[in-house]
Amino acid sequence: MSERKTLEERHQMTDLERLRHSSAHVMATAILRLWPDAQFAYGPPIETGFYYDFEMAHRITPDDFEKIEAEMKKVAKENQKFEYKAISREEAKALAESGRLGGLTERPGNPSRFKLDLIDKIPEGEQISCFQNGDFIDLCAGPHVGYTSKCKNVKLMSVSSSFYLGDESKGQLQRLYGTAFESKELLEEHLNRLEEAKKRDHRRLGRELQLFHIDEAVGQGLILWKPKGALVRRALQDFITAELDKQGYSQVFTPHIGKLDLYRTSGHFPYYQESQFPAIAERDVLEKLADEDATCATLINGLSDGTYEGYMLKPMNCPHHIKIFASEHHSYRDLPVRLAEFGTVYRWEQSGELGGMTRVRGFTQDDAHLFCTPDQVAQELVGCLDLVKKVLNTLGMDNYRVRLSLRDPESDKYVGSPENWDKAEAAIRQAVQVLGVEYTEELGEAAFYGPKIDFVVKDVIGRDWQLGTVQVDYNLPVRFNLSYVGADNQPHVPVMIHRAPFGSLERFTGLLIEHFEGKFPTWLAPEQVRVLPISDKTLEAAEEITAKLAEAGVRVSIDRCSDKIGAKIRNSRLDRVPYMLVLGAREVEEGTVSVRHRDKDDLGTRPVDEFIADLLTEIRERKL
Ligand SMILES: [Zn+2]
Ligand SMILES: [Zn+2]
Repeated sequence: MSERKTLEERHQMTDLERLRHSSAHVMATAILRLWPDAQFAYGPPIETGFYYDFEMAHRITPDDFEKIEAEMKKVAKENQKFEYKAISREEAKALAESGRLGGLTERPGNPSRFKLDLIDKIPEGEQISCFQNGDFIDLCAGPHVGYTSKCKNVKLMSVSSSFYLGDESKGQLQRLYGTAFESKELLEEHLNRLEEAKKRDHRRLGRELQLFHIDEAVGQGLILWKPKGALVRRALQDFITAELDKQGYSQVFTPHIGKLDLYRTSGHFPYYQESQFPAIAERDVLEKLADEDATCATLINGLSDGTYEGYMLKPMNCPHHIKIFASEHHSYRDLPVRLAEFGTVYRWEQSGELGGMTRVRGFTQDDAHLFCTPDQVAQELVGCLDLVKKVLNTLGMDNYRVRLSLRDPESDKYVGSPENWDKAEAAIRQAVQVLGVEYTEELGEAAFYGPKIDFVVKDVIGRDWQLGTVQVDYNLPVRFNLSYVGADNQPHVPVMIHRAPFGSLERFTGLLIEHFEGKFPTWLAPEQVRVLPISDKTLEAAEEITAKLAEAGVRVSIDRCSDKIGAKIRNSRLDRVPYMLVLGAREVEEGTVSVRHRDKDDLGTRPVDEFIADLLTEIRERKL
């Protein structure tokens, strides 16, 4: 946030950003009417609205929001014009010295100290300007909307503390966040969406539905999958595995660590060290260095430059899979080789960035590596996209798009022959067109070692989730000296495709929890059926039905407590169990159950066997 926008960047501000930034001026005007001593610092538009940083004696709390909003509405109603005025550096400084910048009046003895500093930061030769609406004058290069009346659909969102331009030494400021939209309807839609997002927050639902737990004693960003969450994960893994089997993948298992040398070859070490857990030194190295009274720096440098060997928690599964491929001789007839693993990797995320299942330090990728001939790349990419389409459609997420990262045709930084790149890029494009997926092409965004495909899913409330990637790689096969024997009897270097289209099981499950609001479709639900005897008299019959369902492979439980049936139904609903079977004396006598669905309510009375048969079909077909 401390970077100043250049004048050019300012002119590229969208209409909505202008409106939001203008609303920050309106908010400042309102605050000054209530607390004239406020000193304003910096107030840019942000993705979800705007904020303004300021310093004043009164500490704003959410209780003040109504009062400030009411004042903002008055300023909007007064329909003040935003007037631009170019001023010299001297004029700007004089205004700031008098306390007039970021104020409604001159404020003798209370100069605009942040504005003075900001003036100093404006490069020599750049035009300095201010904007005035009503009595409020602010140092600003704009751009703004024409009149304050445009800023009437506003809402204050939150208040926090901040530092002037992020610098702790400059003292603490208050930061007030707000949002603004072009119309009342758009504002309301936004607020509803926030409300909806809060209701669906996977961290809260994960706790309430006992899906997962994060424990300080284990470590931040390390997910403990509880039994119910593990059932969801298993159902998801089984589904993906079944699709991989159909596509001719071979499943492998590899350890969670590997030698540093392996990652030196792959290039993951010593580069990217800051995003990895530190290396694990071998015991005899540690003992030897301890005997020598060596410093930590000796150890770290020795591990980095290869003087000492050690291990690393794996940040990627690729090197392990490469070693499996390299353990056998391959002829072109064996290719493609497709190695799949739900492989757990570890990355060092900053603790401030951790939260729930979406930012973690250990996660399991739906990973696979395909080793193929250059001619097979196209077909393999189609296979990858096919799988993604199948999985997302099954989950009812048909609103997604892909981003193709292609090379910059002008640059020569890429490995692999231009012919192969052309082929791969054409293949990617063709694959997305054949599948009818919406896509964008981004030139120059490819890694130096190959083009890639990213997936972005829109959830039910319209938020974008970045999933995983499919990446073509011409580099690692060379670094690891991989080869196969071609039809010409000569050795050739295979092309590798890395693919983890759903990213990680943690993140994907977090997305699913929010997407379904915890109401997983029956095939994915940790508890699919709950049997609810009306009283102890039908308990025995309920036990029998429960056993029968369990025997058929259904995830079923029974509510034995002495609550009234209404309370039992309510509890099942809270736990998001898809089906409730209510069992009274009449049902027992008739061999039926009274079926309720968590969303569809009362489905009437049905013979037990008929219900089970339909349920099994629903689960097998993975109906939504
Ligand atoms: Zn401005
Ligand atoms: Zn990989």
